[in-house]
Amino acid sequence: MLYRRLAMSSKDIKIKDFGKKTDKLYNLDLKNLPGLPYPYENWQDSPIPELPEIKKKGKNITLDGFLNIAVPEPETEEEKEAMVAKFLEGLRKLLSRENNWTFLKPLLLSLDNCVKCNTCSDACPIFEMSGGAEIYRPLFRSDVFRRIIKKHFSPGGKLTAKFTGADIDLNWDTIARLAQLAYRCNLCRRCAQTCPMGVDNGLIAREIRKLFSQELNIAPAELHGEGTVKQLDTGSSTG
Ligand code: SF4
Ligand code: SF4
Repeated sequence: MLYRRLAMSSKDIKIKDFGKKTDKLYNLDLKNLPGLPYPYENWQDSPIPELPEIKKKGKNITLDGFLNIAVPEPETEEEKEAMVAKFLEGLRKLLSRENNWTFLKPLLLSLDNCVKCNTCSDACPIFEMSGGAEIYRPLFRSDVFRRIIKKHFSPGGKLTAKFTGADIDLNWDTIARLAQLAYRCNLCRRCAQTCPMGVDNGLIAREIRKLFSQELNIAPAELHGEGTVKQLDTGSSTG
């Protein structure tokens, strides 16, 4: 890759770095993970193996080097631009009453009301068990999403992005990483239970998943095929 760089450490990662050209935004290292409680405090995990080349091939793994959802890597710059355009179209639908009347209100309330107190971080099992890695903070994913919306869907958003805190590049890597990051959340909504403002980061993660599934056809095959489609076809996810 043209802009090959080393993965950043947890503390280095800022939201405005999210679209930067790098092989891996965050290097997930076992040494940074917290130990298990009694009686497993001496438990030793074997090192996390690198993904084999065959599994990496054609996939975007630039978030943290792992895949829990297969995000296919477009082959040409034109295809990447087309994916970005689809993402923006999906985002437009997500923010419209006509297309998202069921979830628009709670989504907008969650996007508008965060006061950045970080209470939600202490409640999040993913953030805690990652050893406090910045990119897994509930607020991080939501703020990436907020900044994209601010830059691309508010009047003069692109012109004023540097001054309003919406300075995030929207390119294919930004989108592919956001798709992965939406699945570094188990939708438990513990964050929502502790948030003093009623912000629901779990709902934001779920809406991001919905956008990717409906507009870019990026969704875990097992959940989509064996869950959603079966539910729509037969009225039950178990068939
Ligand atoms: S607890 Fe709520 S208000 Fe505080 S940072 Fe988290 S989402 Fe924002
Ligand atoms: S819903 Fe997601 S972000 Fe919120 S606490 Fe659960 S895992 Fe963390």
